[in-house]
Amino acid sequence: MTYYEDHSPYVYMRDTVPDGITALNIGWLDETKEFPRGTAPDGFTEALSRLCLRAPHAKTRGWHACALPHDVPGTNSPVTVTADGRTLMLGTAEVRVVSADGVWLAAPDLVLHYVTDHGYLPPADFIEAVLSGRDAPHEAV
Ligand SMILES: [Zn+2]
Repeated sequence: MTYYEDHSPYVYMRDTVPDGITALNIGWLDETKEFPRGTAPDGFTEALSRLCLRAPHAKTRGWHACALPHDVPGTNSPVTVTADGRTLMLGTAEVRVVSADGVWLAAPDLVLHYVTDHGYLPPADFIEAVLSGRDAPHEAV
């Protein structure tokens, strides 16, 4: 998967974002780049899991593997997590939320795995938007 720095302009599937909307990247990690680590606030992982379950964006046909090293070979694709009693396969879609300033924040759904299994701490505006449940509207289909 491609690496993008947090808060860099979102370009990966830009045609799925409406004209006039500013969209930024969150959580497009790579093993060659450092990323912020820490403990997310209470409720964040749960809110992010629900977002992955209910609101995938920009679904792709292929699988993106986790870009970070795993101790157990073969567990980085497909990545699965259990959320709300359901098993969710990550790596085929994005989650998008709207910041308090109206900017879209687009993350691979693998961001959930990066948070739960690799200790990634996303930027504060992303955490705030996820906790507030401000999903980006879906593209017309
Ligand atoms: Zn991983």
